[in-house]
Amino acid sequence: MNKNIETFIACDSDYATASTAIFGAPFDSTTSFRPGARFACRAIRGESYGIETYSPYQDKDLEDVSVFDGGDLELPFGNAEKALGMIESHTTKLLNDGKLPCMIGGEHLVTCGALRAAFEKHPTLNIIQFDAHADLREDYLGENLSHACVMRRAWELVGNGRIYQFGIRSGEKSEFTWAKEHVETHLFNLDGVDSVVEKLNNTPTYLTIDLDVLDPSIFPGTGTPEAGGVSFSELLTALLKLRGLNIVGMDVTELSPIFDRSDVSTAVAVKLLRELLLLFAK
Ligand code: MN
Ligand code: MN
Repeated sequence: MNKNIETFIACDSDYATASTAIFGAPFDSTTSFRPGARFACRAIRGESYGIETYSPYQDKDLEDVSVFDGGDLELPFGNAEKALGMIESHTTKLLNDGKLPCMIGGEHLVTCGALRAAFEKHPTLNIIQFDAHADLREDYLGENLSHACVMRRAWELVGNGRIYQFGIRSGEKSEFTWAKEHVETHLFNLDGVDSVVEKLNNTPTYLTIDLDVLDPSIFPGTGTPEAGGVSFSELLTALLKLRGLNIVGMDVTELSPIFDRSDVSTAVAVKLLRELLLLFAK
């Protein structure tokens, strides 16, 4: 892999020496309401030069961790299965090379591709999901590869009791009923993170952040905004509690920069990504 020069800020390590590899998955053809998440990857990279590399929250600097940003995958719009296959094989390569994959979506469906690779590598995989939506539908308008179904597809991989959802405040009644038997759903806020951290301990864990878990008042730039979300500080506080978990892959999805002309949503996403990298990159 070659060095990419338009990277997320300070993420310009060589591939060979990097602990962590960022890649973009600019795919949004199953977004159920307002498409546009395909534009998130380059918006995030561009906006990243507006923040500091240093985090006062963690007293750490992106300059001191080694992250390779390999740019975006070229994914075929309109062919979800093919796109997921490409994401899966890219993630598999990163995992086999000993990298921590960090994917920038894209709509939330892209997580499915990375999860397939992570589960193949780590059969005891658990998943932590921050999201406004349960994403547990069997299908959406007859399609089972939709961002509204991504956690149902994830459950088909990992099975019962391995998915931990936080901030959930939207879904069909049947999703919530189904969830009770199969996944651990924490409604409305991020309470319960501590007990999940204690439980998961060193188990391989994939972290997926659908940014619409945030309240639309601070994060309007998303395809399916859902009122009643958490604040940036609440989300960051929860993420900082994950320090020490065995995170084997992570992603941020569902930023749609075109719906927020102020670019504040992108700035929020950028700051979260910095904190995630500082938490889990070496
Ligand atoms: Mn969502
Ligand atoms: Mn989602």
